[in-house]
Amino acid sequence: MRIPILLPNIFNHPFTYETDINLKVGDYVVVPFGKSKITGVVWDEFEKKNNRNFKVKSIFKKLNVEPLKRNTIKFLNWFSEYNIIPKGMALKLVLLSSCAVEKFSKDTYKNYNSTIKKNSVKLSEEQKKSLKKMNISNKKFRVHVLQGTTGSGKTIVYFEALKDIINKGFQGLILLPEIGLTGQFEKKFLEFFGFNPAVWHSGISKKKKEIIWSGVANGELKVVIGARSSLFLPFKKLGLIIVDEEHDQSYKQDEGVTYNARDMAISRAWFENIPINLITAVPSIETYENIKKGKYSISRLEKRYQDASLPNYEIINLNETKLEKQSWISKKIIDKVNFHLDKNDQVLFFLNRRGFSPHVLCNKCFNSYSCPNCSINLVYHKKKNNLLCHYCGFKTSLKRSCVKDDDCEFIFSGPGVERISEEVKRNFPSKKIEIFSSDTMNKKNSSIKLEKIINNEVQILVGTQLISKGFHFPSLNCIVVVDIDLSLQGHDLRAAEKNLQLYHQLSGRAGRTGKPATVYFQTYNTNTKMISDLTNSNPDIFLDRELEIRKQNKLPPFQRFIALILTGDNEGKLEKEAFNFKNFIEKKIDGRVLGPVNSHIFRLKKKYRIRLLVRGAKSLKLQSSIAKIVAKYKFFPGIKLSVDVDPINFN
Ligand SMILES: [Zn+2]
Ligand SMILES: [Zn+2]
Repeated sequence: MRIPILLPNIFNHPFTYETDINLKVGDYVVVPFGKSKITGVVWDEFEKKNNRNFKVKSIFKKLNVEPLKRNTIKFLNWFSEYNIIPKGMALKLVLLSSCAVEKFSKDTYKNYNSTIKKNSVKLSEEQKKSLKKMNISNKKFRVHVLQGTTGSGKTIVYFEALKDIINKGFQGLILLPEIGLTGQFEKKFLEFFGFNPAVWHSGISKKKKEIIWSGVANGELKVVIGARSSLFLPFKKLGLIIVDEEHDQSYKQDEGVTYNARDMAISRAWFENIPINLITAVPSIETYENIKKGKYSISRLEKRYQDASLPNYEIINLNETKLEKQSWISKKIIDKVNFHLDKNDQVLFFLNRRGFSPHVLCNKCFNSYSCPNCSINLVYHKKKNNLLCHYCGFKTSLKRSCVKDDDCEFIFSGPGVERISEEVKRNFPSKKIEIFSSDTMNKKNSSIKLEKIINNEVQILVGTQLISKGFHFPSLNCIVVVDIDLSLQGHDLRAAEKNLQLYHQLSGRAGRTGKPATVYFQTYNTNTKMISDLTNSNPDIFLDRELEIRKQNKLPPFQRFIALILTGDNEGKLEKEAFNFKNFIEKKIDGRVLGPVNSHIFRLKKKYRIRLLVRGAKSLKLQSSIAKIVAKYKFFPGIKLSVDVDPINFN
């Protein structure tokens, strides 16, 4: 019997094999491929028009794994078409290092599988109403949005919904954006359900991955909490997907196989014909549009926990209260902060920049430190005493000989969180201060640090946007946005939306236990409308206007964007190739081709980068026209094309 087998490699079609084994679609098998053995899956269709005359080889064996579901296979076929990715690469996302995991003994999973405890969590009237609306038509595909201000108790509502689904014998998946710091979340989960969730992200051990993968495949595991990649786990009986913080742009995977995990989660739910819940304080533009069109249902939580009110906002005009040289915190702010500290409030200084200084140059030779691999300045990290490229990881020390064999005389231009933290220390010498960024919080001791922050043993935090991600700090009642002007300088079409999300999330960290809280914005910008827009407690006003702008300019979500990025070592050849490529594809694509233009960061990881942007209607025809024509183009050796459907990052 001849059987189509899809293999986890760069091919877009299944290969044909021969066997006497009784196989059905979705079975995992081991087959010969070239000189090696490789794991594949029995696919739902043969390769279309195969004219080659290969010798058909025999399948080695069938693996003892629950077959991949037909609906999941359909999803993968669609996934590959939508994102212009070979089918084999889509399958690779499902497998574990290109392999399937055969069954473990039952008690391997017992850690995750005690019975659900009867909890005594009491929902408020508002939460009950939201839950009821969320649970309407839970037996088939539908998208429901739960929108609620931070601190309004959204998690408990969707936990209740999930409990219902698990009790009916289904599995659930909760996607979270920032998975490295799920400690607080896991604790909440354990308290509610009485058992541990399986936590899935790239940082867990291989052994753990194998246990979770197989437990998901054979239905032993009930709930997975995971990062983007958990969306591709081979669930046996998936009954509900929850995307928490659905607006978070880190759901977009922009390296390697690019896709948006939130959008793909919605598609997977569609193919599996199961419900999906999107959770957010402020919906993304795409989600907002679907709510407006009535495609998604919505319920809202407007009251905060214990009736805590949202923080107040105050704008500190830096034209009136001048900063001293090499200083970024105004006198006025220092007074305000002292006022809060006296009341035992915790204080956060927010600046979305890691390290000490983003730009180091010499006063004598005027050379600045830039990355040898990327066209970008190196950031000075004082604690590690090195200069770091935030894009490629290049590291170097702060030592260089200047003209006339002298030492350089360094100027550190602009602040990062380390520098702000030094200034804070000078102004509040008796207080315990902690930096909260991916440099300080992604390590093993971070849970101890978190505990200290929660207990108000740290009085002042200096943090990057990492802090906006769902943490609950009960005493935080004062936030100082050191430089709001910095984030208003965005250069991509989502800058406004990004800021709306960021500042809503950020201010949601403050005033969570009912005490009055204030967010202060330092700015030179006398037009403060932008800030008051960002901080309006009704984000719909902002979203409506943003949607109107997008519509008028035919931007996503009203049109589809697809970025085609060419990379190569040789600048001149790359430029020539970009024009040739554009000419070749332009007339055969179902949309308009813009560019080529140099990327915002022209050189990245030693490669030059040139971008084309395809704009077209939101139809799969656009993708298939691109896939067809690109397959026919022969790139100059050394030049590589990557495709990014629905790009978010225009760097
Ligand atoms: Zn670099
Ligand atoms: Zn110098």
